[in-house]
Amino acid sequence: MSPIVGIDLGTTNSLVAVFHHGRPQLIPNAHGKFLTPSIVGVLESGDVVVGETARELRITQPTRCAWAFKRWMGQTRQVKIGMSVFTAPELSALVLKSLKQDAEVFLQQPVTEAVVTVPAYFNDHQRKATRMAGELAGLVVRRIINEPTAAALAYGFQDRHVEKRLLVFDLGGGTFDVTVMEVTGGAMEIKATAGENFLGGEDFTDRLVAEILTRAGMTLEAEEHLRPRRVARLRAECEAAKRELQHAETASIRQVDAEGNLAEPPAVTSLTRDEFRHIVDPLLRRLRVPIEQALRDARLSPSQVDDVILVGGASRMPSVVGLVAAMFGRAPNAELNPDEIVALGAAVQSALMNDLAEVDDLVMTDICSHSLGVEVVKVVGDWFEKGFFDPIIHRNTTIPVSREKSYRSVPGAEKVLIQIFQGEARRSSDNLLLGELWVTGITPTATGTEISIRFTYDLSGLLEVESFIAGSPKKFQVVLNQEAAGLSAADLERALERLRKLKIYPRDRLENRRLLQFCERLVGEIAPHWRDSLEAMLDPLEAAMSLGDFARFIEAKRAMLDFLASLGIDTAEFEGGEHVE
Ligand code: ADP
Ligand code: MG
Repeated sequence: MSPIVGIDLGTTNSLVAVFHHGRPQLIPNAHGKFLTPSIVGVLESGDVVVGETARELRITQPTRCAWAFKRWMGQTRQVKIGMSVFTAPELSALVLKSLKQDAEVFLQQPVTEAVVTVPAYFNDHQRKATRMAGELAGLVVRRIINEPTAAALAYGFQDRHVEKRLLVFDLGGGTFDVTVMEVTGGAMEIKATAGENFLGGEDFTDRLVAEILTRAGMTLEAEEHLRPRRVARLRAECEAAKRELQHAETASIRQVDAEGNLAEPPAVTSLTRDEFRHIVDPLLRRLRVPIEQALRDARLSPSQVDDVILVGGASRMPSVVGLVAAMFGRAPNAELNPDEIVALGAAVQSALMNDLAEVDDLVMTDICSHSLGVEVVKVVGDWFEKGFFDPIIHRNTTIPVSREKSYRSVPGAEKVLIQIFQGEARRSSDNLLLGELWVTGITPTATGTEISIRFTYDLSGLLEVESFIAGSPKKFQVVLNQEAAGLSAADLERALERLRKLKIYPRDRLENRRLLQFCERLVGEIAPHWRDSLEAMLDPLEAAMSLGDFARFIEAKRAMLDFLASLGIDTAEFEGGEHVE
């Protein structure tokens, strides 16, 4: 049986896992790591690099890289990097392709099917864009599941005999999701979910960057535009400091000059945990809102929650852990690695889809995270007002579900256009239009005719809309799915063709490319008296790589690693991988 892999396609990091030898297992990338940064870079040669190498490239050449593109999934926005223009699904496809390749190397067989996770708060357009990314990467997306649902599956797989009310707190790089669920002996029921699509760990870093620039009389917006290299390096410094504060009371941030090099003479700004907490306080406050909403929707008080599970890299911040502890009156559960739990859960879902014996006692229900309904006309005084949204399936309803509601056509109408929307706003124009259905052949009457509408929504995101006219056997029906629709076959083919033309940097040489990129970054970081020596070693390394001269490459790499080690840099992760371009 060909394996279905589970993929956590994150804003910041992506992971791939597979259900192997009776348990979900993470798959390492070309660098032997489980986390692949969701960053795409285009080298001067035109080659595309994904992951760690692109992350290194971003520090020295931010304009050649794209990241956080998950935030604009479902939008028509495009970015230009190098000579190429990309949409968010195309960039995501490049990340998925690289994960697919890692899985194929690991499993020693082709991988063509996947379960992909998305934030619970993703609407239909965003889910469609995710499916399309899969298609562009040569993967059939068998199921899209919500990230917190995946987290629950991983938790439930590991701890089957508990009876608990859980709250999954997922703070990633760009999104925040809260889910309340009940686990009873392998059966998991999602009760409520809430979240924010634009709140994550990157915002914490950005606030810190903005604060440091403000103190020096600059603004983040202006600098990002005028001196992207300065901001890129400062962001890398702030990111490191933010992480350091997980274990230390104080972290230091090296100052960066206008060119984006470390200031000379060297200067550091120190940052304490308390200062950091103060700087990010507005973000911490925003975290409370979805927690309170999810608890309200699940009709629970904080004290009725047995365990809070932390998911997402940013949930490691002590100020976040502190906030959760204060809200719930107890320390959150950190048993599972917050980075890995979603991908592991996606692999458990793939085992469920393959009906594997190891998961036959697991039962999962989900909920729909947005209300689904139709546009209606309201009678206001003695006139009709159009454009109101009337939900048929309310948000947080357990799925699969089927609900029916009756309406009356406007007096004299012979046909009615049913417009199907997703969202919470009172006016339909503020919600997302999913599709339409004409109901025709109505006998016009002075009081209008009764029309019933049935919505059926299933776990794979399929929405079936049926409508009946009272007293008539005729049925009108439309099925709205999350296939990569909205895009014609020709559009899809064009996007595939564009991606096919890209030269992807070979996986077996990525490790060396990353070393090169790392050294290039170091050029701007080390003290000037070391800089010449570093450049003197970098030139032959680069030359040997582009000439494909293996013997010279090995020699140059050895010399470089020895030099780096003499600077006190840990070179262990660059050892091995002796391929040459
Ligand atoms: P996503 O699901 O959006 O891809 P992740 O769960 O991988 O995101 O989390 C990435 C975020 O977590 C980043 O903003 C990163 O800065 C943050 N992060 C990771 N480790 C730490 C840490 N030790 N301390 C603070 N933030 C961290
Ligand atoms: Mg995530």
